Amino acid sequence: MNVFYNSLHNQHRPPNEIFDGNRDPHQEVPERVDQVLRALEGTEHLVSDAQPNLRERQALLGMLGQLHTSEYLKFLQTTNFGKDYVYPSVFPYRNEAQSSAHPVAQRGLFSFDTYTPLNNTTFETALCSAYLAQHAAIEALNSNEVQYALCRPPGHHAEPAHMGGYCYFNNGGVATQTFRNANQQNRIAILDIDFHHGNGAEKIFGEIEEVLTVSIHADPNKKFPFFSGQVTNAYVSNRNFPLPLGTTNSQYEQTLKLALEAIRKHHTTHLVVCFGADTHKSDPIGGFLLTTDFYTEVARQIRALKIPTVIVQEGGYNTASLGENVVAFLTGFI
Ligand SMILES: [Zn+2]
Repeated sequence: MNVFYNSLHNQHRPPNEIFDGNRDPHQEVPERVDQVLRALEGTEHLVSDAQPNLRERQALLGMLGQLHTSEYLKFLQTTNFGKDYVYPSVFPYRNEAQSSAHPVAQRGLFSFDTYTPLNNTTFETALCSAYLAQHAAIEALNSNEVQYALCRPPGHHAEPAHMGGYCYFNNGGVATQTFRNANQQNRIAILDIDFHHGNGAEKIFGEIEEVLTVSIHADPNKKFPFFSGQVTNAYVSNRNFPLPLGTTNSQYEQTLKLALEAIRKHHTTHLVVCFGADTHKSDPIGGFLLTTDFYTEVARQIRALKIPTVIVQEGGYNTASLGENVVAFLTGFI
């Protein structure tokens, strides 16, 4: 399988996230990708450093404009955040909130949490991460084979006008939009199997019938992102499967079957899998009990759909086990 990564990902290195008044060490660290690359050494996967050229960069920016608002993109691209990471502190809670040009107000306007800081490297690394998803989708269209985008920073929490949950651009959305732009007849499903709800794709594509968003995740009464992820009929084309903390392999597998059934019923032609290994039993911020071997079985069941597929890396914060978990997952597609 082709594995695409960005060798400059480690420029994105936020030292802290702010939770409950504390500056905690940031969980989304460069070592995550380094560990995955190390685990891929000696496997038959073809690992390549994929950077956009000038033309691809322009095309990608155009596509991001189909997923995110122009104000949000302009904010990320043109603001001088400086070398040190900055955080939002206040958020516009009023529906009739008035605009303010103050940098603190602008940060709050485009964020939904205090885990997703900004500096002058953020735009570039987030753009290069999104490029991996686009590049992988183009390869999937050309080859009909499964492709893996080792994205960092992750993307599945990024909404049209908001960053959050360590995410800036919706990488899975970029892969989806690449499939859509290739042929308007394509029917895409996004299967989000990160531990946390895939709120970004739901928000971006929820009203678009031909894009089905499916997410299996932790009960939002217990875990981030809290304000989305319940079973709901609020969207035209969305299925949410919240699961309790302590979910085991066999419980997860039952739900996966339902998710895959929904994807089959959608007459899906192209699939985007947002894969997070924070469902692993050892994850420091997760709460499920999935095991490394089980990821191979999850992948086998997804592969049985037999449709062009892009895997996009999302979470997974036990850096020591992330590499073997990713390799276990990719093994199921071979
Ligand atoms: Zn997650």
